[in-house]
Amino acid sequence: MLVIALTGGIGSGKSTVENLFRSYGIPIIDTDVIARELLSDNSAIKKETINYFGQEITQENGEIDRSKLRTLIFDDEQKRNALQTILHPVIHQQTLRQLEQLENSDAPYCVIVIPLLAESNHKYPHHRVLLIDSPESLQIKRASTRDRSTPDQIKKIIASQASRKQRQTIADDVIENDGDLTLLRQKVNRLHEKYCSLSASEQEVNS
Ligand code: ADP
Repeated sequence: MLVIALTGGIGSGKSTVENLFRSYGIPIIDTDVIARELLSDNSAIKKETINYFGQEITQENGEIDRSKLRTLIFDDEQKRNALQTILHPVIHQQTLRQLEQLENSDAPYCVIVIPLLAESNHKYPHHRVLLIDSPESLQIKRASTRDRSTPDQIKKIIASQASRKQRQTIADDVIENDGDLTLLRQKVNRLHEKYCSLSASEQEVNS
């Protein structure tokens, strides 16, 4: 199956594009969702995270306060790396497992959402990288409205991530998300058609 790795910085529009692909019936593996589940399940990963960061990152109900955790890691590179070391091997493993489960799917292609693809040391199997790219000013505006964060907090997160240039060098396809949602929908639709036809020609070669 054709595998598309979708990436982009905070607030670039990854989740919005992901939902558009999903509306076409395309299977999605989202590494952010896997991370969220790992931190909320009563898993060894959750325990390891609390052991490292201390009880201060938990709420009264014992759940990890993800916004506290986020603030902590974006203020401190060492802590950010520590969390990645705890989470990423398991996220990688689970992504591969979910991909395996899609092997017999009838879908023309699937999308793996990997926000930190450019930063990751783990190899994620894929045929093409799709970058969702936005001007930084729009990333800040959209993400701060969505997360009820200050522009400064979003700027810090952007500074901790790969640069737009670094992402552009690994991209095969780019969606410039610099317009309204109608325009974004049209761009995703065009790519969906492209991926369907790439998948069809791949099947012809293999048959
Ligand atoms: P990411 O997943 O990359 O962090 P999102 O897809 O959550 O980004 O987008 C950030 C915010 O911006 C969301 O509230 C989303 O609805 C909004 N948004 C994304 N693209 C557009 C667009 N083209 N026009 C208007 N709002 C947008």
